[in-house]
Amino acid sequence: MSVVKRTSKNVLLDTALENFYGAAEEMGLEDGLVEILSRPERAICVSIPITMDDGSTRVFEGYRVQHSTALGPAKGGFRYHPDVDLEECEALGSLMTWKCSLAGIPYGGGKGGIACDPLELSTTERERMTRTFAARVSPIVGEWEDVPAPDVNTGASEMVWFMDTISKMRGRFEPGVVTGKPISIWGSKGRTAATGLGVFTCIKELLIAEKIDVKGAKIIIQGFGNVGSYAAKFLSEVGAKIVGISDVTGGYYAPDGIDVNKAFDHVTNHPKKMLEGFTQSGLSRISGEEILEVEADVLTPCALEGAVNAKNAARIKARYIVEGANGPVTPDADEALGSKGVIIVPDFLANSGGVIGSYFEWVQNLGGYFWTEDEYNNRLIPIMTDNFHRVWNYAKNHDVKMRRAAFLVAIKRVADAVKMRGTFL
Ligand code: GLU
Repeated sequence: MSVVKRTSKNVLLDTALENFYGAAEEMGLEDGLVEILSRPERAICVSIPITMDDGSTRVFEGYRVQHSTALGPAKGGFRYHPDVDLEECEALGSLMTWKCSLAGIPYGGGKGGIACDPLELSTTERERMTRTFAARVSPIVGEWEDVPAPDVNTGASEMVWFMDTISKMRGRFEPGVVTGKPISIWGSKGRTAATGLGVFTCIKELLIAEKIDVKGAKIIIQGFGNVGSYAAKFLSEVGAKIVGISDVTGGYYAPDGIDVNKAFDHVTNHPKKMLEGFTQSGLSRISGEEILEVEADVLTPCALEGAVNAKNAARIKARYIVEGANGPVTPDADEALGSKGVIIVPDFLANSGGVIGSYFEWVQNLGGYFWTEDEYNNRLIPIMTDNFHRVWNYAKNHDVKMRRAAFLVAIKRVADAVKMRGTFL
């Protein structure tokens, strides 16, 4: 490869680029395609002026990056977090391209977000912020252009505000412009649990492949938000033992098993959807960092990027890591754990249930015909199962780690599409 490789000071983007170049080199991808796929097709920055509840004005910064539309409309969430910036969106957008490609769904990849602390904002302020964001990215979104979805700190309400703003601006109802909407407003039964169901399916298939009984297998779920809580629920239903859970309020450790239904109800009824105040017999409170290091078969990081890193990698005891979040294991930790024989199921395979579920919602929106929850789940589980085994077998047959295998499979499909479509536009 004779291209000048891009690097970035943003860890997430640098990692994304490193992973891409490494796989591209291994598969002998031609230079022109390396150049094309190492850059986003389009990236926009918008300012978002908001009248706050106290009458003052604040201006937030928002972003939308479309990494690729070679396989179809760009697809990916938008998040509200103080760390959001253009490079982070670029990194996460490229991850969406590989995720959609690997999943075999007809989308490219994108990501967006607003740099803000959503906990500081009232519901009405969040609504105004979301609507202004929608208006300012409106020229580049649409059901056949770019279809946003929930991500960190965004959910069904943000999706309705976004869809409603776009629909009003265009003078026609456009439900398929975002996915992750509430069921009553063109959302889909099954979407809320979809990412967790996908993570669960990967863990189950992994344990079966490794001849470990799912019943009684010890699992840590770091991050008890949408992804983690549903993964925990499905796992406990088949008899796995969830020994530890956590969220921003800390770690909750129970070597004999967390009562997942109780924790789930606690979070659902908590005003800020947190574990704070959760109790049960045999529970000890430890820190959010310590929960990663307790004795278990599978560690499932479902919170933010970089949770498993050079500092704590040596103390991780789990033999398997299934990445529910995007980028939870840093490259140095990945390397260190890999050489110890820890098997890591990469994020863009493990958490792809979310975007596969989004695809189902979009299909239903375009057709105006809705599926039952069983129809939804019965389509999702086989796709996740097949995708897991495709990557698992590729890794075994080519003697590479699962992350590399997933990249090789995903890049090939996008590169073939770019090649066939040509470079015009
Ligand atoms: N934010 C989720 C992800 O990172 C979902 C994206 C989508 O459904 O478009 O995969």
